[in-house]
Amino acid sequence: MNFFSYQNGTLCAEKVPLDAMAARFGTPCYIYSRAALESAYREFELACAERDTLICYSVKANSNLALLNLLARLGSGFDIVSGGELARVLAAGGSAAKTVFSGVGKSEAEMHAALEAGVLCFNVESEGELDRLAAVANSVRKIAPVSLRVNPDVDPKTHPYIATGLRESKFGIPYDEALPLYRKAAKLAGLRVVGIDVHIGSQIVDAEPFVAALGKMLELVDALGATGVHLDHVDLGGGLGIRYRDEAPPAARDYLGELFRRLGSRKLRILFEPGRSLVGNIGILLTRVEYLKHGAAKNFVVTDAAMNDLLRPALYDAWHDVLPVARRGDPARRYDVVGPVCESADFLARERLLAVAPGDLLAVMSAGAYGMTMSSNYNSRPRPAEVIVDGETAHLVRERERVESLFASERLLP
Ligand SMILES: *Cc1c(COP(=O)(O)O)cnc(C)c1O
Repeated sequence: MNFFSYQNGTLCAEKVPLDAMAARFGTPCYIYSRAALESAYREFELACAERDTLICYSVKANSNLALLNLLARLGSGFDIVSGGELARVLAAGGSAAKTVFSGVGKSEAEMHAALEAGVLCFNVESEGELDRLAAVANSVRKIAPVSLRVNPDVDPKTHPYIATGLRESKFGIPYDEALPLYRKAAKLAGLRVVGIDVHIGSQIVDAEPFVAALGKMLELVDALGATGVHLDHVDLGGGLGIRYRDEAPPAARDYLGELFRRLGSRKLRILFEPGRSLVGNIGILLTRVEYLKHGAAKNFVVTDAAMNDLLRPALYDAWHDVLPVARRGDPARRYDVVGPVCESADFLARERLLAVAPGDLLAVMSAGAYGMTMSSNYNSRPRPAEVIVDGETAHLVRERERVESLFASERLLP
């Protein structure tokens, strides 16, 4: 199913033409398809149907409240990495009992909030965090459910900035230290050991590293069982890649199929924390061409969207397809698509053949994950609006930020 397609020569989100949305909501603007979201979720869910599983959508991929609410309505759990994300999940009607709390730097205040809310599990990443969590839980007479996030030292073969399961990574507990730390956790008052957790990275387009990581987790599960520590669940994290250009990631069914085969007849509950694979291809960034600059060495399309709106190209040299909303018959030229921000890294795409004129609309594709959530106000640029399209209807789900609000909380000296 293609939720963004040309209809009568105009690129549409479901049934709504993007030029009409630019007129109504302005640009730059993130536009998501509800049907695409539901389709991606259902595909993952269907592939999980034979097993005791819980999908915990990774909130940092796209944390818009309406989007979280739609996922909660579908029955999704959540994976959070901060107190702010916990507050969003609760405000969106998500269930704390289906929420796991990940991240290397949980503060005492965040632990308090998550214990109070009653999260399903804390994915603990260090001995210091384990001690702190036990102390916080004891201070409020609660029992914190814990998994240890173990670093399997598996190479996910992805961009180094989004590889998280190698020995040199800041994430997780070194594999060889996991068993002694589990023994300690099992004895600490205030904690209940419930699971084990691994997350090896993002935009992984091959099932093999996931299966390797699972194998290493199962060795630990068995070793723990032999010492009388029995786990309820294995959390296999997120990381499944999507197609941006010509990548060929396994379908959810194939990726999950391989993992389930490796699990065999074990009775463990399996948690997943998919982010990008659920939302990456459900959204676009709609932008308008401000200027064309034709030079001796290069041609530039200057758009009203910039690296502060979509950071991935600047941060990871990520490739996003760029499509004209209305196709022109004119001959195409080779352009770099750049924003107004004062940085040479401010580009959305490089070396693209485009036939464009000032005022034209462009759609930066596959921008549903790590788009709006990584946006900033750099250069005092208000963040874009967000819209969810549902069939023939477009709903504004986040207003464009206002310039006044950018400095409303700042103070002058007396
Ligand atoms: C970012 C993250 C995810 C989601 O990763 P995707 O590549 O978007 O699926 C899941 N779990 C943890 C712990 C993460 O940090």
